[in-house]
Amino acid sequence: MATLESLSKDSFNLHQNGQLKNDSGKENKGSHKLSTEIKMDIEKLYEAVPRLSSFFFIEDKIGEGTFSSVYLATAQLKSGKVERFALKHLIPTSHPVRIAAELQCLTVAGGEDNVMGVKYCLRKDDHVVIVMPYLEHDSFLDLLSSMKLEDVREYMYNLLKALRRIHHFGIIHRDIKPSNFLYNGCLKKYALVDFGLAQGTPNTKIELLKVVRTEDQQKSCLKTKSATSSGIKHPPSQTTSKALVQHSAEKQPIKRPWPPTQAKPGKGESSVPRSVFGERSMNVRNTGIFEGASVKPARSIKTADITSRKILVAKRKAGPSKSTSSCLIRKSSVCPSNLTCDCYTTDRICSVCFSRRHQVAPRAGTPGFRAPEVLMKCPHQTSAIDMWSAGVVFLSLLSARYPFFKASDDLTALAQIMTIRGSKETVQAAKLFGKAVSCSKECPKLDLRTLCERLRGTHCFSKRKSSQKSELMDCSHISGTVPAPDAKDEGIKQTASLSSIQEVQNQARKVTQDVEWNSVKSKAKSSDVKNWCAVSDLAYDLLDKLLDLNPATRITAEMALEHPFFEGI
Ligand code: ADP
Ligand code: MG
Ligand code: ZN
Repeated sequence: MATLESLSKDSFNLHQNGQLKNDSGKENKGSHKLSTEIKMDIEKLYEAVPRLSSFFFIEDKIGEGTFSSVYLATAQLKSGKVERFALKHLIPTSHPVRIAAELQCLTVAGGEDNVMGVKYCLRKDDHVVIVMPYLEHDSFLDLLSSMKLEDVREYMYNLLKALRRIHHFGIIHRDIKPSNFLYNGCLKKYALVDFGLAQGTPNTKIELLKVVRTEDQQKSCLKTKSATSSGIKHPPSQTTSKALVQHSAEKQPIKRPWPPTQAKPGKGESSVPRSVFGERSMNVRNTGIFEGASVKPARSIKTADITSRKILVAKRKAGPSKSTSSCLIRKSSVCPSNLTCDCYTTDRICSVCFSRRHQVAPRAGTPGFRAPEVLMKCPHQTSAIDMWSAGVVFLSLLSARYPFFKASDDLTALAQIMTIRGSKETVQAAKLFGKAVSCSKECPKLDLRTLCERLRGTHCFSKRKSSQKSELMDCSHISGTVPAPDAKDEGIKQTASLSSIQEVQNQARKVTQDVEWNSVKSKAKSSDVKNWCAVSDLAYDLLDKLLDLNPATRITAEMALEHPFFEGI
């Protein structure tokens, strides 16, 4: 087990008292001028943890999350060498055990196999600063347009390597996404960061994650039907109130979740509208305005009663597809008749539903990266949830869309997954977790190659062009018609989300999709396009195995590294 180096004057050249200058004597070495706000934050951090100023010169703020701020700092080593560090200042309200667990993940599992290590940790009162080696990294959005297939292969291999390592230690990261996997394309360096939401498997080697687990379980037992901002809520409240509750939970990041059940928004992830899905299909009560699919709550089959409920969507106007009004509903035999109620699809909760046992399950993470079993609130989650998230990252890399799934609530996220992986398949998987899901429309499982090629704009170049003509038609609701590859479309601005779940089902609305698609395509050089035409079936086979709806059969990191897609690495 790695231990923290002691932060002492033996290893550093100390700064003059209170003089926050680096070796060059300038106040700030960064290439850009710091905003007043950042300067003030830096000042505050020096005040909160005065010892910092003896060792480090804080240059800039490089990350601002819900539960922490990350700064770039330099320090002069005794050897005279100036080294860069990342200082992660955890919000003072973080739970001490949570902080200690994050640190322990870094010290025990970090420093090898692309898992970020830790150098020092400073604390003053409730302020904790984790000092890590600094890894300069590329923005994922920039990467998307420039990465070659070989880079993607290496990126995924290195991400999986990090996952294999942490899973070996019984750590479930719970927040696998590009901003937590740093990548420096020039140096070919990678680092998995942010164990702030990590959880332990039953036999985790991280002692403090056992404490996290225990606390989590205790809380789960205590929580019964009290209102909570987590998880797929009580079906009837599955309306505006749910969306609001969850939304506010994500907007008010005051306390680090303890146990970690709250959603954690990603930084800068929603700023560029390149997602495949929009957020319009909030799980608000369907008014009939939309013609798309919506997902009804996942719940325990034992207590669920769905049969007596009105199927709102069935009454809706039929869309272009024949399956428009189909509904997927669990059999009634499992539902005790005395538990039937009428509040489903209404915005009230009846007494029957109030008396139902509330199910608590961990669901920390970022909505678009959450595995189906997390979205469906399965209490027994495994490291397979990280593999799903890795699959979503891979999907982004292959389709050049980021974020791929963008949803503000779990059911929207689930509906988006259904659109790609198939509604029947999702319902089937839900059944395995003892959950019943109903979907207003049947969505066929999409061919991943066709989907990614169409989104990336390489479909017409594909050597499989002619053989896939029918598939091209099948998935036309995803990205609209494919314009000629050399069509001039400069000047067309990226528009908001490509398609909401409703639109996905509506083949008629293709205009906005085309605009965004064109915009993405315009960035791709024709050489890149060619490069991307040769994506082997192996890539899509691996993607399919990562995005396995069933966590029990989903590929593990260890197995994935052995996948023939990585042959020769
Ligand atoms: P949070 O819990 O707030 O998400 P993270 O640990 O994910 O905190 O760090 C936030 C951001 O800070 C990262 O997305 C990354 O851009 C930057 N960062 C974190 N650690 C490092 C590091 N060791 N080197 C360089 N940048 C880092
Ligand atoms: Mg993070
Ligand atoms: Zn009810």
